[in-house]
Amino acid sequence: SRTNESLMQRRIAAVPRGVGQIHPIFAEHAHNCSVVDVEGREYIDFAGGIAVLNTGHLHPKIVQAVEAQLHKLSHTCFQVLAYEPYVELCEKLNERVPGDFAKKTLLVSTGSEAVENAVKIARAATGRTGVIAFTSAYHGRTLMTLALTGKKVPYAAGMGLLPGGVFRARYPSALHGVEVAEALASIERIFKNDAEPCDIAAIVVEPVQGEGGFNVAPPEFMRGLRAICDRHGILLIADEVQTGAGRTGTFFAMEQMGVAADLTAFAKSIAGGFPLAGVCGKAEYMDAIAPGGLGGTYAGSPLACAAALAVLEVFEEERLLERARSIGARLTEGLWAIQARHPSIAEVRGLGAMVAIELCEGGDLGKPATTLTGQIVARARDKGLILLSCGTCGNVLRFLMPLTVPDELLDRGLAILAECFDELD
Ligand code: PMP
Repeated sequence: SRTNESLMQRRIAAVPRGVGQIHPIFAEHAHNCSVVDVEGREYIDFAGGIAVLNTGHLHPKIVQAVEAQLHKLSHTCFQVLAYEPYVELCEKLNERVPGDFAKKTLLVSTGSEAVENAVKIARAATGRTGVIAFTSAYHGRTLMTLALTGKKVPYAAGMGLLPGGVFRARYPSALHGVEVAEALASIERIFKNDAEPCDIAAIVVEPVQGEGGFNVAPPEFMRGLRAICDRHGILLIADEVQTGAGRTGTFFAMEQMGVAADLTAFAKSIAGGFPLAGVCGKAEYMDAIAPGGLGGTYAGSPLACAAALAVLEVFEEERLLERARSIGARLTEGLWAIQARHPSIAEVRGLGAMVAIELCEGGDLGKPATTLTGQIVARARDKGLILLSCGTCGNVLRFLMPLTVPDELLDRGLAILAECFDELD
């Protein structure tokens, strides 16, 4: 019979171990904030397929839009025969992405591909090759995005040296004593020690670091980056792959930072569970690459474009940005209530509904509680709640439930989490 156990055995034999798996579970079907596994067990989903399901599993409007498209055509390759949903989506995103200038949008399929292309565009637009990225950044698993990612193990372990021309500055963290001034100074140190500003094409930054631990950039940091970029003719690339599509309470997190990026990479929740990503940016930069230099066979699939157009409508109709802010508030309050009994929770932080807690032994910031974090993830699963950790030390619990989650399910998830802390901490 098809059990999680038997499927795990087949998976281990057929799939390389490098493809990790957080929960030893095989999903059978899902709806909104719930997933049912092959054994018929139901789980509350606070992972959302890693920030992909802001509109929930199989939102009926999105299903309807994809079904309608499926009856017309599923693929032509946009570079061979174009189709309207691609263009319509780009028009909408050009309006939606922050920045008071003319924009154009390129569609691809994955977040890594979006960041790769943003770097290619910045290189072509500036005629420079260097890129500055940050400590604990995550930008993907392709070779260039791996080079930008600020965590070697496990992502780049055993792969040797990565593409060069990447310089690492510090990301601010009030909790860990990295002030904004120090983070900005680390860029000036790169200019002094490693690369002249005239050789830097772009600074790539997540407005809230995702995999790195839900570290929120203070707006003054982003303003500082903008000023450095303006001074030296460097492009600012916002990686909104995890923060985008409404997670933080605005459609893009940069809306809350007071400055605009030149190029914005987006993916994940933009298409409600279908593979779509892209780069939106200043039209003159986006046009820097000659015809044929951008694209891909599946890039901007008609099915994914139809899904993304429906996602934008669902956000309006269900007022999901407001909902993101109220989920964030409810979640934050519930987490602080757990913290009151559990000082191992060193911080509750986030932006909108992009919320996380950092776990340290006895609240000592020098002692990341990696084991406890793993135990809580496992215990919560046993109790029917799917959680995700993150952070360079794996000691941060992040919450990425659909923004369509009913309050009742949100509270039930929080209650399970509280139980796990009471039992394990
Ligand atoms: N950038 C960020 C900020 C991400 O969170 C991720 C995925 N976790 C990526 C890029 C890479 O996206 P993908 O896995 O779709 O290639």
